[in-house]
Amino acid sequence: MAVIEPASHTSSPATSGPSAGTGPTVFLDKDGTLIEDLPYNVDPMRIRLAPGSRAAMRRLGAAGCRIVIATNQSGVARGYFTEADLAAVADHLAAELEGLGARLEGFYFCPHLPEGINEFAIDCSCRKPEPGLIRRAAVDLGIEPQGSWFVGDTWMDAMAGRAAGCRTIMVGPEHRDAASLPPDRRPDFAVPDLLAAARIILDGEAAGAAGAETVREVAR
Ligand SMILES: [Mg+2]
Ligand SMILES: [Zn+2]
Repeated sequence: MAVIEPASHTSSPATSGPSAGTGPTVFLDKDGTLIEDLPYNVDPMRIRLAPGSRAAMRRLGAAGCRIVIATNQSGVARGYFTEADLAAVADHLAAELEGLGARLEGFYFCPHLPEGINEFAIDCSCRKPEPGLIRRAAVDLGIEPQGSWFVGDTWMDAMAGRAAGCRTIMVGPEHRDAASLPPDRRPDFAVPDLLAAARIILDGEAAGAAGAETVREVAR
């Protein structure tokens, strides 16, 4: 497991806005959730926010939510790119979010894969669906997973988030099939994109909603 402290993380939380730090923490998968999935891309110039992400980040940022990325990056174990390449990605995303009024508190990634070709070729406890990345981030940042959310686009994200104790939301094309997943892989909510997820998170906070028992499809 590895952590990158985004460059913007050095700014003082107390000065980032009137509502800074008052909203819940939102753990985010990166590829296919926050940004468009371009397999193994680490070129910042080719990174595009996913549909709905821009507005979602504005809303979550305005509500004072802390944003933490938790992403599987087996490209390191496969020898496709390095941890330094991921640091550039993290810095790029931190700057992008900052421009939208949101704050990237941490960028946690799993560089491992058992079938890899280098020292990262191990069976680890941080590759989602394992909850290791989220647990580590929660300890590092002093976050209570039970009061937090995990948003991702696959069952691995839902399973990791659930195992860590977060409320979970599935976005992207697979969200339509969420209800048919086994209970341990099933998200609490399933919606088309991150903007719809942000609405659930912010409405949930307003209503003091607890985790849902079953997947609920929420209209846009
Ligand atoms: Mg993904
Ligand atoms: Zn790992």
